[in-house]
Amino acid sequence: MNQYDVIVIGGGPAGLFAAGFAARQGAKVLLLEKNAQCGAKILITGKGRCNVTHSEEDPRKFVEPFGRNGRSLLTALYAFGVKDVVAFFEEQGVPLKIERGGRIFPEHGEAKDVQKAVIAFARDAGVAMRTSCEVKKLLIDDDVVKAVETTVGTFSASNVVVATGGLSYPETGCTGDGYAWARSCGHRLVTPEPALMPVKLSAPWTAEVSHFNLKNVKITLCVDGKKVDERFGEAFFTRSGIGGPIILDMSSRIRDALKQGTVKLLLDLKPAVATDLFDKRLQREFAEQSNHEFGHSLGNLLPRDMIPVFLRLVGIDPKKKCHSVTRVERQRLLTLFKEFELHVSGCEGFRKAIITSGGVSLKDIDMRSMRSKQVSNLFFAGEVIDLDGPTGGFNLQECWSTGYLSGVNAATR
Ligand SMILES: Cc1cc2nc3c(=O)[nH]c(=O)nc-3n(C[C@H](O)[C@H](O)[C@H](O)COP(=O)(O)OP(=O)(O)OC[C@H]3O[C@@H](n4cnc5c(N)ncnc54)[C@H](O)[C@@H]3O)c2cc1C
Repeated sequence: MNQYDVIVIGGGPAGLFAAGFAARQGAKVLLLEKNAQCGAKILITGKGRCNVTHSEEDPRKFVEPFGRNGRSLLTALYAFGVKDVVAFFEEQGVPLKIERGGRIFPEHGEAKDVQKAVIAFARDAGVAMRTSCEVKKLLIDDDVVKAVETTVGTFSASNVVVATGGLSYPETGCTGDGYAWARSCGHRLVTPEPALMPVKLSAPWTAEVSHFNLKNVKITLCVDGKKVDERFGEAFFTRSGIGGPIILDMSSRIRDALKQGTVKLLLDLKPAVATDLFDKRLQREFAEQSNHEFGHSLGNLLPRDMIPVFLRLVGIDPKKKCHSVTRVERQRLLTLFKEFELHVSGCEGFRKAIITSGGVSLKDIDMRSMRSKQVSNLFFAGEVIDLDGPTGGFNLQECWSTGYLSGVNAATR
């Protein structure tokens, strides 16, 4: 049986970092990945551009959007924070740049370059990589992992890092295997749920307008008629509903709200203009186009593809001349611009969720080292842990930081 100092299970961002940094400490490291290639999920991050991290460099502020569990990430962030990630990728030949909202992306390249850089780093550090190798079981005796049973044989190691990710986008290899192993050796599990997911709308027309971005819009979440959250930013309609950063960031709240009552979203397409001012704008537009048909009057106000939807929903005869649109009709139009009601019928599941919330409980991991409190030579890193942040590069940073910390500690234990 082959013997290693550290075996890392899962070749995603967390696992590649854990393996690479363990090897840099001089450990003999084996990385086991069930896909034919490592980092499959990296390729689809940030719409193929990979939002590598977020520009907030102060760990205390960085962890705030992670909610209650955020503080447990502090040690990992102090060990390998945003600045370290930026320096790391610069060294690997993938310089990064800050974009809108503090999102950090590769300056020139794309997600593929991030994937290649992290794999090259691990390989250059001396990690032995076995791809197309699925781990089936951890062989544990006396609260110590003795070996790892795989589809191609059994490997033993002094320490094991589990970095198998969550359950989202299962086609990338994420089938929750780490959860089952963790539970079987005494770790508590916070129920994994899909998070950062698009939501489904009852509106039948969303597929017609699913190809352009709604930039700088405001969306208000209402539960049983009560406004409970609102966000500004970018969204887009999908074939069956609505997605984009502001929806994804509200989606866990929407998921929970659906268990309580009727959920609707109010879309404000012109949040920078107060309702009364926008009404004046409409009046001006109609005055200028007084003898034109209403159906041809919205070109200055709406993306072209959205116009047919508005015309269908507003209930104004498109052949009517602008000068004869009544005040009541204009009010209906104004409501579509400023408080477009979208009824939520559900949330997409794991298949379309960016991440999984829940996972191995922080109560059973020493977050200063990423070591299990139940099994003395077992470590966890990345999405498999009960930590989830919003969009914006927060989740990958969590993987880089916990990957680093688990790798270094597994190598030096
Ligand atoms: C569409 C999409 C876009 C995203 N965009 C961004 C973004 O721009 N910025 C951001 O910060 N986050 C983004 N995320 C989230 C981010 O990709 C994840 O948080 C991150 O990939 C988790 O890394 P991980 O290493 O923990 O797990 P994963 O990347 O899921 O890797 C786990 C690996 O373990 C392997 N594995 C699982 N079980 C076994 C087993 N039994 N044996 C061997 N190998 C196994 C899997 O095949 C997989 O390769 C996005 C996610 C998705 C789905």
